[in-house]
Amino acid sequence: MVTYEQIFRNNLDWVERHKEKDKDFFEKLASDQQPGYLYIGCSDSRVTAEEMMGASPGEVFVHRNIANLVNSIDLNVMSVINYAVRHLNVKHIIVCGHYNCGGVKAAMEPKDLGILNPWLRNIRDVYRMHKDELDALPEGKERYDRLVELNVQEQAINVIKTAAVQLSYSENKFPVVHGWVFDIHSGMLKDLQLDFEKILKDIQGIYNLTGKDLFM
Ligand SMILES: [Zn+2]
Repeated sequence: MVTYEQIFRNNLDWVERHKEKDKDFFEKLASDQQPGYLYIGCSDSRVTAEEMMGASPGEVFVHRNIANLVNSIDLNVMSVINYAVRHLNVKHIIVCGHYNCGGVKAAMEPKDLGILNPWLRNIRDVYRMHKDELDALPEGKERYDRLVELNVQEQAINVIKTAAVQLSYSENKFPVVHGWVFDIHSGMLKDLQLDFEKILKDIQGIYNLTGKDLFM
């Protein structure tokens, strides 16, 4: 484990490296942020956001929580989405899950996990919605991996249900919402190729918050 003291030495090295490349780096960074991406991922220490994307400071607006959940009454994630869409005008929103997710695993077990119960209930709801598909898979890794993917898909749909995303998309044709899974074994990112427009169309009858037909 990196020591507490080492963290500050690492930070100094990091500052120096950036200044060597561009002496005004931090002045420019301080002036404003215009990230093109909102990334919503898991808090898991093995799944870094910017690092695995090769992104620099200022490029990605980040929100992380256990099992990358987007719950409509979570003030935290909803504030992040609203700010990113309405004020930062991000062009892409990514929900990124990962295989071997402890949160998803916990939601597959018959255990009382205290305060985590209501949080992980969101994943049990995903399981219920896709029960036929999941139960048809062999118990173990295959079912677990598929629930990780379906959880990403459902959380991405939850992003699309927000008024901020619907209104911005109807006016600007952005942001587009994507679902990714990070494969811890290989380090690779997998794009689940969610059909954003089709999902938006499909849910429009029930979740339209714009007062207009988004595809007229
Ligand atoms: Zn996780």
